[in-house]
Amino acid sequence: MCELVNLSDCSEMPILLCSQCCIMRSMATNERIDHLERLLEVVRGLTTAPDLESFLQTVINEATELTNSELSSILEYDETAEELRFLAMHWFQRDLLRPMGVPLEGSAAGWVYRRGQPLMIQDTKMDQRHFKVVDRVTRHETHSLVAVPLMVRGEVVGVLEALNKKDNAHYTEEDLTILETLGALAAQAMQNVALQRKVRATAIELAELERLKTDFIAIASHELRTPLGLILGHATFLRETAGADYAEQLDTIIRNATKLKEIVENLSDVDNVQTGAARVRNQKVSLVKIVEDVILTFQDEANARNITLKSELGDSPFYLDADEVKLGIALSNLVKNALQFTESGGHVTVKVQEDAGHFKVSVADDGIGISAKDLPRVFERFFQVETHLTRRYGGMGLGLAVAKAMIELHNGRIWVESEEGKGSTFTFLIPAEQTQPFALSSNPFVE
Ligand code: ADP
Repeated sequence: MCELVNLSDCSEMPILLCSQCCIMRSMATNERIDHLERLLEVVRGLTTAPDLESFLQTVINEATELTNSELSSILEYDETAEELRFLAMHWFQRDLLRPMGVPLEGSAAGWVYRRGQPLMIQDTKMDQRHFKVVDRVTRHETHSLVAVPLMVRGEVVGVLEALNKKDNAHYTEEDLTILETLGALAAQAMQNVALQRKVRATAIELAELERLKTDFIAIASHELRTPLGLILGHATFLRETAGADYAEQLDTIIRNATKLKEIVENLSDVDNVQTGAARVRNQKVSLVKIVEDVILTFQDEANARNITLKSELGDSPFYLDADEVKLGIALSNLVKNALQFTESGGHVTVKVQEDAGHFKVSVADDGIGISAKDLPRVFERFFQVETHLTRRYGGMGLGLAVAKAMIELHNGRIWVESEEGKGSTFTFLIPAEQTQPFALSSNPFVE
């Protein structure tokens, strides 16, 4: 200690520093620099450590050395057991501590966890919060401790603690700062791993969901086709032979069975593409004729709903080698949707243009539009903007998936631009010259 003034006075009056104080100050500065360098190395470990366990091991080693303690450990909250469990500890304590639980009540770590505040106990004999069982099990007596909460986005997930400051010294504010820094890094690493696990679990769930969709489509399209064919066949026969008595009821059966048939056809189209059974039967077709046929099919419905359905086709017939039926299905689904999601008095326009060796077909409406949030998902199988609870419109969420598959079978691509409340434009582009039909190596609906 300085003979003239004590060290703290020296720091306030640097001009009066004696040589001894100068040495002590420079030692303290060097020690701080060394601490910072070591903490920086731990920060680097966040991205370079091979796994969480080795990173947390580094954290407790540094916590022990930088606070000049005998031991350190990290405890994590176990939701099932509702207690803290040792997640990282020195190797010689591993077997003893791993099976142990530390209660939230009656332990220093529990106190830190529950309050989300740091704790320093300079003498455990004078403080009831220390959990003595761990000392008994490890045959190691705790004299003093410093512990900090591990926080992830404001929530406490565990505790980092250092035990027994060496040389009978007291823990200091600096020890606490070091432990808080290391605790923040440990919490960050734990959060990264938890997020990675979540992402992996979500990916597995998604893959399972896609598999269920594929299976459902395959089973439903096969199993419903035959009975539905029989219902329609017999109902049509009865309608023709049974006279006027049951005409109304039979018309209802036929109308509804026809709706079901459309759904089953959509399912079959998707199933064929999923299984690779879909074949493109190319022949020379006129795109203009396909558009005109589709418009004719929907004209009555548009008139009945007071929607202007028209085309802008230009003079060319736009010939190309393509599968007329499949392009017709794709376009029908787009026009059907455009009418379905447009209010009375609205407009639906189908346009065909040539664009750099491609034919571009667009279906524009001034209907309800699609929000930016839902836009990326509309081509997914079974996706519908409305949930089944609030649904005002019918459908199965397959029309656009089918349209996409049909266009991709022609080496084309399809996309949508839309603004909620203003309308949507669905556009597909197909090469004017078809080379090889699109080769499907796997289920194209699964990313
Ligand atoms: P669905 O057969 O149920 O209509 P689609 O796959 O054809 O299924 O469409 C998926 C969803 O995309 C629809 O439920 C609807 O929410 C939205 N959508 C499709 N076309 C339009 C459109 N022209 N305007 C507004 N929303 C649309």
